[in-house]
Amino acid sequence: MSKSASAKSRAGNASSSMAASDRGDSPRFVIIGAGMAGILSAIKLKEAGLTNFTVYEKADRLGGTWRENTYPGVACDVPSHLYSYSFAPNPDWSHVFSPGPEILAYFEKVARDYQVDSFIRYGTEVTRLEFHDGRWLVETSTAERDEADFVIAATGVLHHPSYPDIEGIDTFKGKVFHSARWDHSEPIDAKRLGVIGTGSTAVQIVSSAVSSVSSLTLFQRTAQWVLPVANPEIGEEDRAKYHDDPEAMRAVREELSQIFEHNFANAVVDADSPQAEMLARMCTENLEGNVRDPELREKLRPPYRAACKRLVISPNFYEAIQAPNAHLVTEGIERVEPEGVRTRDGKLHELDILVLATGFRVDRFLRPIEVIGRGGISLDVVWEKRPSAYLAISVPEFPNLFMLNGPNGPVGNFSLIDVAELQFDYIMQLVDLVCSGKAREVSASHEAAERFEDERVEAAKKTVWVTGCRSWYLDDRGVPAAWPWSFGHFRDQMRRPRLEDYELVA
Ligand code: NAP
Repeated sequence: MSKSASAKSRAGNASSSMAASDRGDSPRFVIIGAGMAGILSAIKLKEAGLTNFTVYEKADRLGGTWRENTYPGVACDVPSHLYSYSFAPNPDWSHVFSPGPEILAYFEKVARDYQVDSFIRYGTEVTRLEFHDGRWLVETSTAERDEADFVIAATGVLHHPSYPDIEGIDTFKGKVFHSARWDHSEPIDAKRLGVIGTGSTAVQIVSSAVSSVSSLTLFQRTAQWVLPVANPEIGEEDRAKYHDDPEAMRAVREELSQIFEHNFANAVVDADSPQAEMLARMCTENLEGNVRDPELREKLRPPYRAACKRLVISPNFYEAIQAPNAHLVTEGIERVEPEGVRTRDGKLHELDILVLATGFRVDRFLRPIEVIGRGGISLDVVWEKRPSAYLAISVPEFPNLFMLNGPNGPVGNFSLIDVAELQFDYIMQLVDLVCSGKAREVSASHEAAERFEDERVEAAKKTVWVTGCRSWYLDDRGVPAAWPWSFGHFRDQMRRPRLEDYELVA
């Protein structure tokens, strides 16, 4: 069937259904997830006077990644004054990079201040979405049924823990858990702690925990480049200034935003840029200037370019790993045994607690929710090879369903809050098409989605992520599953939807 014929027949089908604009009702929204992006959506909808919505949250508390990651040392490596909603600056941030519990408290406070907490249905996981007769039918784990004109998926990126396939892990006598499922029933003080992995999470755990454990063993499969950025406290004087003069706080945000964009976000998408060179130089100087033992230094020297994997930012990791009770193990892991981890050289590293800081399954996105689009098509089938979405927001044949921080968006380059805010404003322009009666169903066209994907894959060839390392950015083909252009380009794309790239069903 040709595209126009299919659009016509859909128009025929759609006439039997009643969209909100026909009924004169306020359109109904379902938001999935009460993390940073879900809270943002709730606030923005409420501000727009669109109060007919529910936020479904599977847990009993909001906060997404900041609720789930409670490991020692958890913090955000985007500066706090930048990692805040643009409309809700926080004069009370304690540090340039504030700790996780403070960030969680910030989201809780914002949700309270903007009175969106009451829209959240806690303990209710969305399990199924089906597009039927112009609306989304929503099913939940608690056997509730809902119907919505629009679904906004704010389900997060780094959400599903990735567990390593290591023999004997179940035989360990002590506690073993993933970094995003920290077991606080067993304090780490004076214990022999083992950490598998050397990503941002492991580095934060090691730097924070080394002073309280009896020994810390870090199992490194691949070394990481570490960018040293200090994390000073924000003094009382500055905090008072931000209280008295919110403009000063906005200026700080803007300055940080410029620094981040020009020195970091743009560096990673152009491997040959002077900024990429500068990052590499800073990381090398950090390693060479701060690791004293030449043997340890070489073990910590990555065999790939800086920022190929997501850059680890830490002012004190090298200091921590050189502590007398810290051990870096680079020998491969053979298996886990009741007493600890046995490496391939036959050595047993005895441990009380083993932390799997082994990252996340980043290809899941909306799943495990069963999503059925137009004509019974399943998202699992559409995404069988790998997830993709036009501009990371819309999938052909899944009308009126929009994603925040969806597949292949600017995950590694910038504050995800800015990303979500820009995406939300863009999505609202698509929603307006329906609310104003210009269309009943809006989804990216097949042509646009395919063109976007081809251009994205081509542009990714210039990025630093493909310069010779394994990382969570790379999909099964080795193509970075991330936005491969500058942040300025993203901002431009988010300004206004190109309607010719959408299939609008009347
Ligand atoms: P990650 O960067 O994916 O690192 C996972 C680590 O586990 C890697 O070192 C990996 O080794 C290792 N690993 C995985 N499977 C293994 C196995 N079977 N045996 C041995 N080692 C194994 O995960 P992450 O540290 O949780 O960080 C994920 C992302 O979360 C970050 O890149 C960042 O975007 C975000 N994050 C942000 C912050 C923040 O401050 N904003 C903090 C934490 C995390 P290989 O390198 O050899 O694969």
